[in-house]
Parts: sequence; structure tokens; C-alpha cells
Amino acid sequence: MKTILVTGCAGFIGSHTAELFLKLGNRVIGLDNLAPTYSIEIKRRNLEQVRAHASNPENFIFIEGNIRNSNIVENALKAHHPDLIVHLAALAGVQPSIKNPSEYMEVNVTGTVNLLESAHKLGIKNFILASSSSVYGTNSKVPFSEADRVNHPISPYAASKRSCELLAYTYSHLYQMKIACLRFFTVYGPRQRPDLAIYKFTQAILNDQLIQIYGDGTSQRDYTYISDIVEGIGLTSEWIQSEKAERNRFEIFNLGESQTVPLNQLVSLLEKTLNKKAKVEHAPYLPGDVPITYADLAHSKEILGYQPKVKIEEGINKFCDWYLNQK
Ligand code: NAD
Repeated sequence: MKTILVTGCAGFIGSHTAELFLKLGNRVIGLDNLAPTYSIEIKRRNLEQVRAHASNPENFIFIEGNIRNSNIVENALKAHHPDLIVHLAALAGVQPSIKNPSEYMEVNVTGTVNLLESAHKLGIKNFILASSSSVYGTNSKVPFSEADRVNHPISPYAASKRSCELLAYTYSHLYQMKIACLRFFTVYGPRQRPDLAIYKFTQAILNDQLIQIYGDGTSQRDYTYISDIVEGIGLTSEWIQSEKAERNRFEIFNLGESQTVPLNQLVSLLEKTLNKKAKVEHAPYLPGDVPITYADLAHSKEILGYQPKVKIEEGINKFCDWYLNQK
């Protein structure tokens, strides 16, 4: 049995990740401050669902704490000495980062340094870090490869995630830590953050409200279903704890579907699945938004054996089922 610290475990990806590690028979320590970025009730419900996967209560310990506070982070690591840290806690989302850049830097960058520094001090060598496809900015070469230059992030959120990757490299170099940065491509599925398009559009269609489409609806996203992301995190945890990672201690992996979907097609798919027409209003593109995201998966397939399975049609079906049932 391994002990795994999952930061952001009350959130969307974190709660699914904590469940995976519990199902695999590990002990999970969750760290999250229940940030009011969306309903705290949703986060508490996520935690209840995680807890239900612990075969005994000691296998899931939740610490309500802020990663901005280095003492809280260090005490959590000292008390439980995890074999692996999966760092998912962050302020996510592009638009709020433009309104509130300093808070994004403090949580995402300083919070990450607090975790890396405490891990180093306590000799914890295995570290997985959530990055984002947003680091590719307006990269015109598609699909996006980990070898592409990523020096032009176009939002504070993207810049904060790229900064985390750079710091992760520094810690890996200085202290021989094994660190994998995972660039997630627009993740969706049950428990999705309510601020994300698929959730917002579903809610608006069902409530006869207007959907706002920024631009002409041709912008494209590589939408990734949550079970594929969680499988990718599981594969990364196997890789990082294996001999292979000793030879190459720092890695960046894209985790996407490698299938782009234009916004208009996404809306049509939701209309078909919900059997209801959307009321659409067009608005100008927002600063910070990128025209396309598209993952090249060659590297994550080769090193991790990552193979996403859920196509958008199936994923949207599953998401809508979940959405309707939770209501
Ligand atoms: P989420 O908001 O549902 O989860 C993040 C969690 O972090 C929340 O539960 C929040 O309470 C916690 N948190 C925030 N600030 C904290 C702090 N100061 N201290 C402790 N905990 C704090 O978001 P998510 O969609 O699950 O994203 C998880 C990670 O994946 C984030 O790092 C995000 O940047 C990254 N990511 C997500 C997506 C996506 O499409 N969802 C895409 C790319 C990258």
C-alpha cells in the first residue's frame, strides 16, 4: 500500500483521481482549502463520494488547508510522508485569471513552490503536477507537441502553469526529484466545474436560457473525458515509481483525446443528446482565449502507454446522463 497526497482532491479532477488511487488499494491524503471558486456544497459532495471508495476510514484522510501557507503544506507532508504527490490544486480558468492575476500567481506558482520545497526537504522524490494545454497559447502548428516552443502564454493562468513547469524542472535538476507535468486538454465529465462550457451550455439549454458563443463558433477544442485523464494520471504514477523514470527524471506529457471539436459542433451534439434546441447569441472573442487546442499524443503513448478511449459523442452522452441524474 502506497500513500499518495492529492492536492485539490475536493475538485473535479482531484476527486476522481483520489478515487482511482483508493480503488487501487492505496492510502490517500487529500489537501484542499475548498476555495469558493464554485459551490462549496459541490466540493463537499465530491469528498463524500471519494470517502465512499475508502475500504476503511483511515485510507482517506482529508486536510482542509491552503497551499499558499508553507507551514500547512510542510506539516501535511511531515505527518503522512507520502510516496507520491499528485498536485492538482490550483485556481483554474482563463478569464478570472485576467481579472485577478496576483491571486493566480500566489496559489498556482507560490503554492506549487511550497509543495516542491517541502517535498525536497522531506526527501519525497515522486511528484506529478497538473499543467494545461493553455501553455501552448496561439501555437499555429497543430497538433501541439511537448517539443513545441511554449514561450507565449496569452493569459495569466497559462503563464502560471508554464511557470510551474519551469519550477518543476528546476527542482528535478537540483534535487533529483522525479517530476511529470501533465498538460490536460479541456477535461469534461461527471463533477465537471460549473464554469466550463459543456456544463454551462447543458444548464442553459435545459433552462431555456441563452448560450453565448464567442466568435463564429469555429474555434476548436480537444475535449478529454475524465476517465481518460484519470487513466493517464494512473499510468504516470506507475511510470514515475518505476526504474524508467530514474533515467529521465523530468517529463512533460500531453493528456488529450487528439480529436478537435468546433464549438458549433459541440452545441449541436448537446442539442441532439438533450433533444432540445439551444438559443444562441454570438459575442466577440475574449482576450486570452485560444482558437484551437489539439494534442499530439505520440510521446505520452510511447512512454506511458496512454491510449484515450472515449469519443466526444459517447462522453457527451455520459455527461448529460450524469447531469440529469444529479438534478
Ligand atoms: P477544480 O477547481 O475543480 O479543482 C481545483 C481544486 O483546488 C479545488 O477543489 C479548489 O478548492 C482547490 N484549491 C484552489 N486553491 C487552493 C488553495 N489555495 N489551497 C488548496 N486547495 C486549493 O479544477 P479542476 O478542473 O479539477 O482542475 C484540476 C487541475 O487541473 C488544476 O490544476 C487545473 O489548472 C488543471 N487543469 C484542468 C483542466 C480542465 O479542463 N478541468 C484543463 C487543464 C488543466
